[in-house]
Amino acid sequence: MKKFTTVLVWFRNDLRLHDNEALARAVRDADYVLPVYCFDDRHFTTTSLGFPKTGAFRAQFLRESVEDTQAALRSRGADLLIRRGLPEVILPQLARDIGAQAVYFHEEVADEELLVEQALVEALSKTLVNNTPVQDVSFWGSTLHHLDDIPFNTEQLPDVFTQFRKDVEKKSKVRTVFPVPPVMTMPPAFSNLPKQELPSLKELCPTSDIPTPDARAVLPFKGGETQALKRLAEYFWERDCLKTYKETRNGLIGADYSSKFSAWLALGCVSPRFIFAEVQRYEQERVANDSTYWLVFELLWRDFFRFTARKYDTALFRVSGIMNVKRSWNLDWKAFECWKTGTTGVPFVDANMRELLLTGFMSNRGRQNVASYLVKDMKLHWLMGAEWFESQLVDYDVCSNYGNWNYAAGIGNDPREDRYFNIPKQASMYDPHGDYVRRWLEKG
Ligand SMILES: Cc1cc2nc3c(=O)[nH]c(=O)nc-3n(C[C@H](O)[C@H](O)[C@H](O)COP(=O)(O)OP(=O)(O)OC[C@H]3O[C@@H](n4cnc5c(N)ncnc54)[C@H](O)[C@@H]3O)c2cc1C
Repeated sequence: MKKFTTVLVWFRNDLRLHDNEALARAVRDADYVLPVYCFDDRHFTTTSLGFPKTGAFRAQFLRESVEDTQAALRSRGADLLIRRGLPEVILPQLARDIGAQAVYFHEEVADEELLVEQALVEALSKTLVNNTPVQDVSFWGSTLHHLDDIPFNTEQLPDVFTQFRKDVEKKSKVRTVFPVPPVMTMPPAFSNLPKQELPSLKELCPTSDIPTPDARAVLPFKGGETQALKRLAEYFWERDCLKTYKETRNGLIGADYSSKFSAWLALGCVSPRFIFAEVQRYEQERVANDSTYWLVFELLWRDFFRFTARKYDTALFRVSGIMNVKRSWNLDWKAFECWKTGTTGVPFVDANMRELLLTGFMSNRGRQNVASYLVKDMKLHWLMGAEWFESQLVDYDVCSNYGNWNYAAGIGNDPREDRYFNIPKQASMYDPHGDYVRRWLEKG
């Protein structure tokens, strides 16, 4: 006999069926499973400095990812119930309506997400189904290494990446991937529930222009697990790019200089453990070299920022950063507008900023340069840059974004590094013939 009759699965930044522990365990534990996604109104307000919190590129990617999850569930005889509003209000109500005894979901780490979780847990504890409070059951599923497997507790997490990486590589093992549940059964009462359509982009972002595709974009990013797995198959297996990743990863033009997995990772359309399993298979079937290692190394940076965010909580967002470095920051909006629109007069910075403005993406090399330029050369407030990235990036991830910005501003991990990027030197190294700058400045 199963533990529960009915369980709700709350989809968040885990929009996939593969390696989804919350879904897999719900299917194992309950006769009926009801998957739900809530478009949270708070995600569509503004940042503290007034930018749209979710800009149109990311909102579009999110819509596509939710739509793809719904289609994948439907093709397996299940469905995804779509709601708009506050999860901590919607989910307890649904649990009551459908008689669910538990809500399964993946944990997040940042401040705003944790407040929602806490409010949900509190509301569920007051929601009675058959005279028993509805249970909350949460899982850790966003990193390559599981929280319980890394060799430190949160307070002892090293502040220096190299130390984190070495200990994790030595002492932690990546867990195996959860398979897609073969059979999922919806609760019979599902058919009586009112259904809501996927909100349109205009409904989600009424003040933003609908993005128009730009032929110069590195990729026509499309959200969803289907596209994530397709991208992985192309990058690893069809075009065999993984074997040269370490040499190409600092590129600026085109689809294949780096994996471009970030947007799908941010919404959980692909799991880092699945990527790792595919790297291992590639190493067995094709080649194991510095490049195959390096992609996993980069995924460890992602883990590092996520665990760091968990350790430092709201300090990640404070002006003095996680290391509490007091500096004065300048909020010069006129100068910021030049940075934002790619009109500073520094070609390498402007080309990168226009790419971000017009496509929602920028290479890692570009991000490091424009961040350094904003903070160290223009001497503008680092939060202006971080919040603009939050609004604009198709791959925005709260931990990676604010972690990298803390780092760039010299108030984050290992502030001794406090690196300064000499922009003309960087441009001559990474864009020696000016192809990238011409691409964005001449046709723009
Ligand atoms: C100021 C600044 C802000 C950034 N904001 C974000 C963000 O919001 N979301 C985001 O995913 N990345 C962010 N990054 C990190 C990095 O630039 C992107 O992950 C990368 O450019 C995405 O391209 P890719 O998937 O082709 O990367 P690849 O080079 O193919 O790397 C593979 C994966 O490793 C991870 N990764 C690589 N570099 C980093 C890094 N420095 N920090 C964390 N993870 C990394 C990403 O998940 C990436 O998809 C930021 C970097 C800087 C300097």
